[in-house]
Amino acid sequence: MKLMLPDYNYMFEGEIAEVKDGVLYIYRPGAFKEVMYKLTYLIFGETECCFCHKKLRTDISEIDEDKYFSQITLDHLIPQEFGGPTIPNNMRPTCSRCNNLKGNMYLDEFMEYCKFETKIDKESKILKRKFKEELQLKQEKRKYGQIESIPKDWISDELIRTIYVNFWISEPLGVEYFKQEKFYKKYKRLPKLAIISQNRFLLDGFNTILLAKYNFSEKINVIVLENVYYKGFPE
Ligand SMILES: [Zn+2]
Repeated sequence: MKLMLPDYNYMFEGEIAEVKDGVLYIYRPGAFKEVMYKLTYLIFGETECCFCHKKLRTDISEIDEDKYFSQITLDHLIPQEFGGPTIPNNMRPTCSRCNNLKGNMYLDEFMEYCKFETKIDKESKILKRKFKEELQLKQEKRKYGQIESIPKDWISDELIRTIYVNFWISEPLGVEYFKQEKFYKKYKRLPKLAIISQNRFLLDGFNTILLAKYNFSEKINVIVLENVYYKGFPE
């Protein structure tokens, strides 16, 4: 798939990456997530919530809470809990209230929920409870892979041994690995997709690769970013 990029050239601070003629070059190992956050703000702005359209407060006189909020965050449209990748295609700048409220809902679910979220009449309360029960069932099915959680055209099946893993991005077997392993044992599938560049360097998902290797998989579902090249070299 193609990574969303701004339509102008841009050099990232510290020269960790560069957007040049519609291609992203990453120069520093480990810079991937930081670059994805920055790209999302470059594309969608960093002063307005994409969901409620309130503005980021820039002056202490802007106290009207119906118009302003105080902290910008990034929401994953496809929640991380269901493997939503940290790329601008899947992220939007939002106020922290919308982000918290949306939680692990998909966008259409969140829109539905917003219709009765603030209402306190009896009927709305019943609707809310019903919605949450159905949501929980749906989420469990997603985890088992019975409902598609990521668009099929984002994913391809690749041989693990053809992916370059630069150990500069490695993390020790930590909390995150064991969390993913627990998911794998219960749902019999990998919870996260690895992300690789056009020149087949692993950009994100070190734990995913490890988990697949330890479980003797030859192939793995990955997102190949066609317009991203990794040009970093170990120092
Ligand atoms: Zn908002």
